[in-house]
Amino acid sequence: MPSNRWWPIRHVRLFVSQDNNVIQVDSLIHAAWVVPVEPRQVVLPEHSIAIDQGRIVAVLPSSEAKSRYQAQQQMDLPQHAICPGLVNLHAHSAMSLLRGLADDLTLQTWLQQHIWPAEAKHVRDEFVEDGALLAIVEMLRGGTTYVNDMYFYPEATARALLTAGMRGTIGAAILEFPTAYASNAGEYIHKALAARDNYRHEPLLQFALAPHAPYTVSDSTFEQIVTLAEQLQMPVHMHIHETAQEVNDSQQQYGMRPLARLKRLGLLTPDFVGIHAVHLDQSEIELLAQHACHIAHNPSSNMKLASGIAPVTAMLATGVNIGIGTDSAASNNRLDMFTEIRSTALLAKVQSAQADAVPAWQALEMATLGGAKALGQAHLFGSLLPGKQADLIAVSLDQAETSPCYDPLSHLVYCVERQQVSDVWIGGRHIMAQRQLNSINAEQIVAKANWWRDKIRNQG
Ligand SMILES: [Zn+2]
Repeated sequence: MPSNRWWPIRHVRLFVSQDNNVIQVDSLIHAAWVVPVEPRQVVLPEHSIAIDQGRIVAVLPSSEAKSRYQAQQQMDLPQHAICPGLVNLHAHSAMSLLRGLADDLTLQTWLQQHIWPAEAKHVRDEFVEDGALLAIVEMLRGGTTYVNDMYFYPEATARALLTAGMRGTIGAAILEFPTAYASNAGEYIHKALAARDNYRHEPLLQFALAPHAPYTVSDSTFEQIVTLAEQLQMPVHMHIHETAQEVNDSQQQYGMRPLARLKRLGLLTPDFVGIHAVHLDQSEIELLAQHACHIAHNPSSNMKLASGIAPVTAMLATGVNIGIGTDSAASNNRLDMFTEIRSTALLAKVQSAQADAVPAWQALEMATLGGAKALGQAHLFGSLLPGKQADLIAVSLDQAETSPCYDPLSHLVYCVERQQVSDVWIGGRHIMAQRQLNSINAEQIVAKANWWRDKIRNQG
């Protein structure tokens, strides 16, 4: 599992004062509701979260918390629900600078005639850092605390995440054809490993191998990736079965569908995170379950590019773990996990003709614990259990649009807008307070994004 590059779980520091049994912690957050995701379907009214040294110490009734714990910082959130930070299981963060550049096109036309030419001309280290920072502003303000990214110049994405204090798995893209970043698959792999070596001790980051897709990577490169992933315990993050054309082309070129080819090459393991998985038959769903693979579901991107609807209900019924992603701001066009959560629940009902398909609790679980599991890190975050990292968000529910509130779990999935995320903590650090980002300057980042727009528009 890839988790060995995170700091190990330490015993939480607990100071008990001598005169009474009050325990000293760093912070206490009192909320109207806590939605811990684990145990399932639970909503805890009038509960508090005690945090010390970046970890959750306890989740308990507020009345008890106030007598049992003493905190350096206390926060009352009487109209808010607290839930785990959202895990965006698939993004190309830097592509936020290409948001709205080309829309309403099929995947292949969009990629080949618009995105790849723009990337060839503009994507360099500075572009990736500025684009990633823009994406991070959007993701943090929308309650995302972890991103599983795939792109070029992984060091630039790493710098952006570290500046912001956000977590991420950085998938260094690998493909056969040349870009400004690398000239062949061997160079992409070499640079991916160098980036991992440079940042491997950063507790906020882990690295993945990210072969772009079966149609852009050769058998011999996949064989190298399988060996490296096993030796270095790195996750493999790649697009699979996104379009019907991709599946048909593979049958013509290799005499088999892409997943059959990946199985033959040894890629299907518990460290495999497949993105999209729209065009699957039942035997392929069973194959994914047998090999304990994970899937990132990207409903908005699949709808916008007319790729189809992933068979989420069938995958869940067969035991495939599914997380939720946004894909890039070039194909979505928003990195808004709350939209994706709602779309996941609604599309599953449309596709299966079952109103009880993907109920609210399950959609939220996919966007938190499902993503953490896919990245081999469910023991560290994805739910609000004592001992896990304090990665959590507060969502204000007192606006007219979310009133009245009978069930905050229902509201989190079907009702809230991302602007209702008021506060974000990552590893106990208060990254966003009352919608103000503490680690990065959103205005400067937006100004730089506009500078890039002018440059890209002028230069084509
Ligand atoms: Zn993608």
